[in-house]
This record gives sequence, structure tokens and C-alpha cells, in this order.
Amino acid sequence: MSEVVDPATGEVVGFVPATSVGEVDAAIARADAAFRHWRGVAPGERARVLRRFAAVVDAHLEELARLEVRNSGHTISNARWEAGNVRDVLDYYAGAPERLTGRQIPVPGGLDVTFHEPLGVVGVIVPWNFPMPIAAWGFAPALAAGNTVVLKPAELTPLTALRLAELAREAGVPDDVFTVLPGAGSVVGERFVTHPAVRKVCFTGSTRVGTRIMAGCAAQVKRLTLELGGKSANLVFADADLERAAATAPYAVFDNAGQDCCARSRILVQRPVYDRFLELLEPAVRALRVEDPARDTAEMGPLISAAQRDRVAGYVDGAKVAFTGSRPDGPGFWHAPTVLLADSTADRHWREEIFGPVVSVLPFDDEADAIRLANDTEYGLSGSVWTRDVGRAVRVARAVEAGNLSVNSHSSVRYWTPFGGMKRSGLGRELGPDALHAFTDVKNVFIATEE
Ligand code: NAD
Repeated sequence: MSEVVDPATGEVVGFVPATSVGEVDAAIARADAAFRHWRGVAPGERARVLRRFAAVVDAHLEELARLEVRNSGHTISNARWEAGNVRDVLDYYAGAPERLTGRQIPVPGGLDVTFHEPLGVVGVIVPWNFPMPIAAWGFAPALAAGNTVVLKPAELTPLTALRLAELAREAGVPDDVFTVLPGAGSVVGERFVTHPAVRKVCFTGSTRVGTRIMAGCAAQVKRLTLELGGKSANLVFADADLERAAATAPYAVFDNAGQDCCARSRILVQRPVYDRFLELLEPAVRALRVEDPARDTAEMGPLISAAQRDRVAGYVDGAKVAFTGSRPDGPGFWHAPTVLLADSTADRHWREEIFGPVVSVLPFDDEADAIRLANDTEYGLSGSVWTRDVGRAVRVARAVEAGNLSVNSHSSVRYWTPFGGMKRSGLGRELGPDALHAFTDVKNVFIATEE
């Protein structure tokens, strides 16, 4: 049994069993057996089951959101969005089974057709920062394509995934088609990698663990999607709407207390407006409401754990602090939003993913300098470009090596558009119209027609 803690108070809110290797093997065997049936369920019926699952999630949105506030310290408004995202992702991929069409390719002497065949059992491994959406981005398209799913939530945040598994059963998802197995990464997650009946691993988490999982999957040529870390740039040019750029920058990095793989944690500002930008940023950071995440007014909650808070604080120690926001006193794992001035790109806080409410700021000279600095990282997940020059916006968005760019906005995630990273931020794409194909293999069949 492992403890589940409320990060806003440090209080234990429950205990969750840790699944053993033997239990994982048994669950995978059952999921494999269920696959034989689930893949044959008529497309329209599979779609109906997923729509019912979406409807049951919708009926429990507030309950799921409250559970996430308690387990993860997310603000209630974020948690409502996250539960709604699970519903939307299920609804979106419920439209897929009848549309999973192949091709007919002209060939001499016969008929050539392709099929998108489901893979079998898919293992989804989820981190603690967005327990609900990241789970759904894996399980919804996997199920829609005819696979069965075993899912491992993060050790710290298993409660909503366990509840989603109950809701799936209530919605009529057949037994063993979707199984949640809480436990250690080194036990449950590793077994997804090594068990031959798991045909694909869908991993979201750190680049360190993702690299290890990729090596493990190679041994079986196992299919793999990786969504890993980030150190995304927010590029502010001198011709930008500075007021808007500064007013929105805190939300682009401090949302979810900075525990967001897309956090724009490096702000690059063109030199002539650097001082003015910081002047505008300061009141925006100070005004951020860091408080009990259960309150409707909360804009930022605590960090996930004491260890994470201490890790984050380690980046601030000895760094040049420009200004900070507030944080509540008392128990819980709180860290104030903090703006650091980078001396150079060699600063540790500039280079490493902090995964907390800390942002580093650095000036740049011109467009080429901005692109060079933005790309001077091993990561490539997301980024923002602020400028009123349309040509520059397009040039820079094309030149920044990241999977998700936004212009005059910080939006990265829509369930109907692709999401994923370049470089060491990941492999493959989730969400959007093509994600389904990441859960199938193409089969080509030639049928001779000549007598
Ligand atoms: P983590 O890599 O420590 O853990 C992620 C998951 O992997 C957990 O469920 C963990 O139990 C499991 N795991 C750990 N060791 C394992 C092993 N040897 N084999 C199999 N599974 C194992 O990451 P975290 O600390 O939970 O999450 C934070 C990280 O996730 C950050 O780096 C963040 O950027 C990244 N992230 C990326 C995205 C994205 O979409 N690109 C989204 C959210 C989070």
C-alpha cells in the first residue's frame, strides 16, 4: 500500500495498493484475451461504448475535478477543464471506429487494399502533472482503434485514473478492456516494456525515464510514443503588444505551478523593450492568486510533493531573483512564482527543466539571435512568438525547433490538433486526427483477380 497525500495540506487522503509483477502479468494476460473480442466488436458498437464512457465522465465531472484537487493540488478551474478534456477526447475518438478506413491502391492483376489493424495490448504510463488528460490521450484513441489498454498512473496521483476505470465499467466497457494498475514505475511500468504481449508503450514523463523505456522497447521492436520534458521559449519582439505579452506570460509558465511540460520557462525579450517588459511583468506576477486550490479564485496551487518543492527551490538558491509572487504560509508544498534573470545561457536554471513556478528571462538582439537562443536546448516541445509582424511570426514559428508553437498566444493543446515534441521532447504525436494511426499497424492485402 502506498500513501496518497493532499499537496495543499500535506495530509494523507488515502492508501492505494501497489500492483506486483505477478498481478501485472495476470492483468496483461486478461487484457490480451479481451483483445480477441474487443477488436471484433462492430465499429458502430465500439463507438457507442466510447460515447457512453464520455457521457458517464460528463456526469461525474465535478466529482473527478474535486478528486484531482485533493490528490494533485490542481486549481479547481484547471481540474474541471481536465475532467472535461477526458470527456472531449473520448467523444472525439468515439467518432473514429467507423472512419478508420484503409486505401484501395491500383495494381495490375488484382485488388490491393490496406487495413489499419489494432496492435493488441497497449501499455499507457502516466506522469503526475496532468493525471487525467494524459491518461485519456493514450487510452481513448487506443480503445477506439480496437486495442485493449493497461494503464499505470503515477505513484503520487493514482486516484482519478482508478475512478475513470470504475466509470468505464459503469459505461459498459467490457471487462479487461481498460485496466488501471497503480504501482511503481520500476515494477508495473517496466513490465509493460518487457512483457511481450504488450505491443505498444505510450509513455509520458521525464526524458531520463523515456530514454530508458525506448532502449527497453528496442529489444522487442515494440511500438512507442514518447511525450517527454520541455524548456520552451516565449519570444517577445519589440513590436509586440507588450501589455498582452506581459499580462499572459505568468499563466504560460506558472499554470499548474509550472509543472507543465509546455511551460514557457525561458522568456526571451528583444533588448529595446527588455526593461519595459519586466516593469509590466512584475505586477502581473505579484497579482497571481496563489491559494487553496479548491477555491474558485485560485490561479496557482502547491507543488506535488515536498521533494519537488525542494528541487525547485534548489534552482532559485544563488540565482538572480528579479521578483516573486506570493505563497500561503502554513502546511503544504508551496513555492512562490519566481522570476529569475539569466546571466547567460550557461545558467543551470536557463538550461534545465525545473518543473516548478520559476521562469528565467534573457534579452536578445535580433530575429536570428532569438531563433538561435530558442533552439539552444536539447528539448523541443512548445513555444510562443509575440510580434505584430506577420511575416516574422511565420518565419520564427517555422524556425523554432518545437512541436507546438503559438503566435500572440500561449495555447498548445486542443484535442483535435496534434501534440508532441521534437528533439528530446518526444517521439510521435498524440491527439488530433492522426493519433489513431499510432495505435494501429498498416496491413496491405493483394487479392488476385485473374483467372
Ligand atoms: P517520470 O519519468 O519520473 O515518471 C513518469 C511515469 O513513469 C510514472 O508513472 C512513473 O512511475 C513511471 N516510471 C518511472 N520509472 C519507470 C521505469 N523504469 N519504467 C517504466 N515506467 C517508469 O516523470 P514525472 O516526474 O512523473 O513527470 C514529470 C515529467 O513528465 C517532466 O519531465 C515533464 O516534462 C514530463 N511531461 C511531459 C509531457 C509531454 O506531453 N511531453 C506531459 C507531461 C509531463
